[in-house]
Amino acid sequence: MNGPEDFEPFSEKRKCSLCNTKAFVYRRRHSGQYFCKKCFIESIEKIIYKTISKFNMLKPEDKIIIGLSGGKDSIALLYNLKKIQNKTYNSKPLIALSIDEGINHYSKQRIQKAINICKEFDISHKIISFKKYIGKSLDDIVEWQKNKGDFRFPCNYCATIKRRLLNDIGKELNGTVLALGHNLTDISETYLMNILYNRLPLIARTNFSRKNSKLNDAYLDRIFPLMRIPEDEVELYAKLKQFDYYKPVCPNRKNFPILRRKVLEFLQNIKQQSPEIEFNLFKGCLRFTSILSEEYRSKNLNFCVECGYPTSNPLKCEYCKLLKEIK
Ligand code: SF4
Ligand SMILES: [Zn+2]
Ligand SMILES: [Zn+2]
Repeated sequence: MNGPEDFEPFSEKRKCSLCNTKAFVYRRRHSGQYFCKKCFIESIEKIIYKTISKFNMLKPEDKIIIGLSGGKDSIALLYNLKKIQNKTYNSKPLIALSIDEGINHYSKQRIQKAINICKEFDISHKIISFKKYIGKSLDDIVEWQKNKGDFRFPCNYCATIKRRLLNDIGKELNGTVLALGHNLTDISETYLMNILYNRLPLIARTNFSRKNSKLNDAYLDRIFPLMRIPEDEVELYAKLKQFDYYKPVCPNRKNFPILRRKVLEFLQNIKQQSPEIEFNLFKGCLRFTSILSEEYRSKNLNFCVECGYPTSNPLKCEYCKLLKEIK
């Protein structure tokens, strides 16, 4: 994986491709360009800015809610959205929203980083815990599940609950858009997972641009301003900016043989040989989404009898089914 160690000491052959500075340089493998520290930071910020504009992600009157985990991606996103918003006349202040899943020390330490960064950037911050909102922490759910003997991976619960909480609380905070820190690697990984499981409706319903019509009003518009930056470059950017972010990986991701982890390892392996692979996947995903959207967008879509959210299940959505199970 690339990192600050890829900033190599100056040599005659390795000047910054943009400003010719004789300094430490970073080699962007998928383009072959060399960057000095300053040009690398500027290039990342430019990609974020251009992505927001190209995909019509923000409107001047938006009230942006940022999903803030305390990791490198969401902190890089927070910093850049604040910077962009400061330039926008009369824009409403950002609100950071963190979800405390209740995963042993992991959630607590991560949330602490989120609290620190919000103080540093002077951003209002809302923290919601699984325990308080649905009555059980993720660790409680895993324990309960073990005793039941019918084992499902914690991520199945966690992702469904977190997605719903971010949306529901975002709406309670009068947000108009939910900004998430998914980077290019996350998007490619999810796309590949959807292909492997033949989840064509999910691919069809992914919205990358706010120009596309919404299926209904239940979900806030979600935007991914980092979606064109590979994970290793977000990491390098966060280190160079000296953000104080939380580094460890979730223990559930390490301890359970989830397919997502294997897909990521597969992508990282291929990247060694073909650094452009994530970009190809992303382009394919955009194209495939637009081809499939006509056919699948509202096909077989029902509305949950409990909460009214759209679902492909006949009666209750996954979230309501999970809540009923664990209560
Ligand atoms: S890895 Fe799984 S359990 Fe951990 S935070 Fe992510 S979705 Fe939740
Ligand atoms: Zn330079
Ligand atoms: Zn429901």
